[in-house]
Amino acid sequence: MRRASPDISELRSSLDVDDLAAELFALVERLYPICRSITGDGVRATLGILQEDLPLDVVEVPTGTEVFDWVVPREWNITDAYVEDPAGRRVVDFKEHNLHVVNYSIPVEGTFTLDELRPHLHTLPEHPDWIPYRTSYYSPTWGFCLRHKDLLALEDGNYRVRIDSSLEDGHLTYAECVIPGESSDEVLVSSHVCHPSLANDNLSGVAVASRLAKYLSGSRPRYTYRFVFVPGTIGAITWLARNTETASRVKHGLVLTCVGDAGEPTYKRSRQGVADIDRAVENVLTYAGTDSSVVGFSPYGYDERQYCSPGFDLPVGCLMRTPWGQFPEYHSSADDLELVRAEALADSFLKVLSAFAVLEENRRYLNTSPFGEPQLGKRGLYRLMGGSTAEHVDELALLWVLNLSDGRHDLLDIAARADLPFEEVNRAARALLDGELLREAEPGETIEPVSAQPPAGP
Ligand code: ZN
Repeated sequence: MRRASPDISELRSSLDVDDLAAELFALVERLYPICRSITGDGVRATLGILQEDLPLDVVEVPTGTEVFDWVVPREWNITDAYVEDPAGRRVVDFKEHNLHVVNYSIPVEGTFTLDELRPHLHTLPEHPDWIPYRTSYYSPTWGFCLRHKDLLALEDGNYRVRIDSSLEDGHLTYAECVIPGESSDEVLVSSHVCHPSLANDNLSGVAVASRLAKYLSGSRPRYTYRFVFVPGTIGAITWLARNTETASRVKHGLVLTCVGDAGEPTYKRSRQGVADIDRAVENVLTYAGTDSSVVGFSPYGYDERQYCSPGFDLPVGCLMRTPWGQFPEYHSSADDLELVRAEALADSFLKVLSAFAVLEENRRYLNTSPFGEPQLGKRGLYRLMGGSTAEHVDELALLWVLNLSDGRHDLLDIAARADLPFEEVNRAARALLDGELLREAEPGETIEPVSAQPPAGP
């Protein structure tokens, strides 16, 4: 049956990589100046921009709402913050860079000596030109972050300090976008939207996720794709608390973070370790022709911690390039628009799309002629093995698919065992389907070998 919209493989080959790279970078650039936090207008402004291109459902959850072991916190907003030196000059100014104020700071106004002020000033002595990123979400305090070289230049005297912030009952804001597929089984993509002017962590993830949603909405996928844009930790917990039923339909998932730096891709496996998403991403990375690494699950990192908590144990991995904490610019003003590369964003996007194409095509088949090798020649399959046409099928891939299609192995298992790209194995499976040597297995249906059958009775 012909489909009106492209499937994901067709979508992938229709995209112009340069245009895609420029589009992704432009979005990071546009979102960069906004002062975001776990709650407040910065998140709303960010989602508002994403909404221009996506049918995004924005959800507001009131302060005080219980979400599992947590409570939705107060809403934080800020208009200005500064430190004035004894001569009245602004030596630290929120309007110059939003990292200058400790995110979620309580409001403050007063005059302090330099010594009184020091405990509220945070710097990175090893990187004296960078402003650190600090938060005070769960212990009410205030503070400023500044370049270490600027701290060293401060002289004794009285400093006027002001933080025009508000912490009030309001809402936690998150958003989701659903691309319906043929199946109600879902693929979840999650990105955090709570960091202020930091580009790789995590506007890169927000940009890649939102453009995946935009382009997938023009395709006809097998799975239903759900994109969630949530404040880190509390947002993911809030989403899970309100969507336990939906979560049970998540069959594959990815957290996207730090996907824009020049490093090679890193995939962190789900808690399950051998879930389809783990095997799909690993297959894509293995045969991409560039370096990459795969690391095991750990209960630390981004929102995979919540999706992979034992009460959910969702098959959700995390795609990064250089992992968080392993690039020196992490959580500082040096995580800026120069750290993020347009081509790295596009490469991350295409790797995710390739992994989705694998998930869409992965199936479990049964060899319809399992006693001895079937005769390929009389079914025209040898013809496909010669030459290098688009329909060219690898002989070894054909033999592996025939051999392992006993209902116990899916195509991803076969690709791993044969050490072949998924695409190669899938092409072989399609040729065998055409030759009627394969059919899709019903759930639980397997080939029972004669060696496993009980001896005949008397
Ligand atoms: Zn972070």
